[in-house]
Amino acid sequence: MSLFPFPPGSVALVGAGPGDPGLLTRCALQALQEADVVIHDQLISPEILALAAPGAVPVAVGKEGFGPSTPQAMTNALMVTHARAGARVVRLKGGDPAIFARLDEEIAALQAAGIAWQVVPGITAASAAAASLGQGLTLRGRTPGVRLITGHDMTGFAEQDWRALAAPGAVAAIYMGKRAARFLQGRLMMHGAAATTPVTLVENASRPSERILPATLATLPEAAAQLDGPAILLLGLAPRRAHTDAKEVTA
Ligand code: SAH
Repeated sequence: MSLFPFPPGSVALVGAGPGDPGLLTRCALQALQEADVVIHDQLISPEILALAAPGAVPVAVGKEGFGPSTPQAMTNALMVTHARAGARVVRLKGGDPAIFARLDEEIAALQAAGIAWQVVPGITAASAAAASLGQGLTLRGRTPGVRLITGHDMTGFAEQDWRALAAPGAVAAIYMGKRAARFLQGRLMMHGAAATTPVTLVENASRPSERILPATLATLPEAAAQLDGPAILLLGLAPRRAHTDAKEVTA
């Protein structure tokens, strides 16, 4: 994707990446600089919001953790109202807008209202978390695929293909998995996963407050209890120590 035309009266659904402003794409930056209104999730870092045009009006929506949230219908109505008034509207979402971010619901609302829209992808939290571990999410010969799954959905803890996830070598990036830690542990072990399977929790990936908590399936609930920010659970991956060691050696 190259830099794009962003006409007045349209909406750009933009991925802001995991938090580090350096992980914003050039297209996302352009959208922010041309925006009249920025409708953003609560989790977007202030450093990224500060990149918006000085006159752009920020509007916070969504929810923080399990706290109070803006109803989706309200977010949809805000986008439509501002676009109809002729604004260039940025709908700014953490990570990638296509991953656990209600992209389709928002596009459906814009289409129903006859508003022009486009999507600007972003770096998803799983990519930032894997980078911090120094691990590939896939590995030739061992991990032929990676699953991006959620710990819970609208009806409660989310059911998944547990047999596949419990197989040796399986890798999954689990979003919104903090509260589901014990459920995940139970389901995976019930389907044959070893208690020693590595699970690494990466909190606030790419932010100055980032924390990496290495755990195993056996210790997952205790590790999850230590989290207080957004976190990705990387099932099947342990941190690779070599990259920090290498720095020490060459220093
Ligand atoms: N669209 C986002 C995901 C939104 S769902 C993306 O592509 O990254 C919200 C969940 O994403 C959080 O509960 C957490 O599991 C994860 N998340 C978002 N930002 C994160 C970060 N900086 N570090 C770790 N996890 C993060």
